[in-house]
Amino acid sequence: MSNTDGTSGTRVSGALKPFGTSVFAEMTALATKHQAANLAQGFPDFDGPEFVKQAATAAIGAGHNQYARMMGVPALNEAIARSWRERGFDTLGEIEADSWVTVTTGCTQAIASTMLGLLDPGDEVILFEPFYDSYRPCLAMARAVPRVVNLRPPKAWGVGAREGFWFDEDELRRAIGPKTRAILINTPHNPTGKVFTQIELESIARLCVEHDLLAFTDEVYEHLIYDEGAEHVPIAILDGMRERTVTMSSLGKSFSLTGWKIGWVVATPRLTAGVRAAHQFLTYGAATPLQYAAAVALTNGKDSIRALVSLLKGNRDLLAGALERQGFKVCVPAASYFIMADHSAFGFEDDWDFCRTLTREVGVAAIPPSAFYQDGRDARHLVRFAFCKKPKTMEAAIERLARLTPRAKSGART
Ligand code: GLN
Repeated sequence: MSNTDGTSGTRVSGALKPFGTSVFAEMTALATKHQAANLAQGFPDFDGPEFVKQAATAAIGAGHNQYARMMGVPALNEAIARSWRERGFDTLGEIEADSWVTVTTGCTQAIASTMLGLLDPGDEVILFEPFYDSYRPCLAMARAVPRVVNLRPPKAWGVGAREGFWFDEDELRRAIGPKTRAILINTPHNPTGKVFTQIELESIARLCVEHDLLAFTDEVYEHLIYDEGAEHVPIAILDGMRERTVTMSSLGKSFSLTGWKIGWVVATPRLTAGVRAAHQFLTYGAATPLQYAAAVALTNGKDSIRALVSLLKGNRDLLAGALERQGFKVCVPAASYFIMADHSAFGFEDDWDFCRTLTREVGVAAIPPSAFYQDGRDARHLVRFAFCKKPKTMEAAIERLARLTPRAKSGART
């Protein structure tokens, strides 16, 4: 089979060809072109904490500029292990920095190392849909196969409803077959902002134990939780799960340093062996001085995380209210950077049509969530807005959104 595209002349492997260009690259380029307020790609347009930036500069000055240890610089491995202990996640007091923790180039590489290092061709992995966009291409690179379980939309939408996306345990049970190797959980969840409850995680854990499955869990929004009663529970701490869970997280979201690409994996030495088998040949190690600074962030960063959560909660409430007044149906997220909303009231063809027009004509960029679905038609009425932006950007976006008016389904627009 030829992988050369006849019209553009590009060449892409058969495994990756179906995935095209990442929606984030595409929408951010469109936002830049039209000088739109970028509520599309989830990155802050403000800087991370001064003390962490200074720690990075100091690490460069102190000569920490050669390759780091493959598994991470000792100070960061220790800070990650310590943060697990301090938060009560190390229930048996076993997490040992050098044998359980692996530092990666962002959580995206943690995901890739986990899939490439622990799966064999033909293994099946269950994903909750909508799913973060890198999961399926990574599975394809590992020649593994996704099985999708739907996160169903809330029965009631709206600022007052506060209902989240949910899944049917029977559907999850039915998705498990003889080739299933793992369930991938993302909590708090991108793009819905759902925080999986302890009861939901216990039901997933029971299935993992019953069918001898691994759990891969992406917890990058673990600190960005806004509602009382929504508590982050790592599935690794539930009964029977510590031996079978690979927990992934990162510095970027908690400290507004997404460009540093510092992530990590926490898993038993048995599973860590698989993760490192891939990690050592993908990037070998993450940027050394940034790892030193990340250790400082994790050790002294509690106040800075609190301040970020307070800013983001304000943004969430502001944007959710504005969207609802404008005619969107909103699903108010308990956590994360994102609000999912229903744009049906405006009469567009689908989510891509809506997002492209919104960027070009209204000056606000957003993400078409069909990128997070196996069958994009399930998301044609949805839009994802990021609210991890400066108050000024949020205000500008909200002011521009007021220009949005309903359109006829066909005609009018050219
Ligand atoms: N996680 C970010 C988002 O969901 C994007 C990361 C990326 O651009 N790859 O918007």
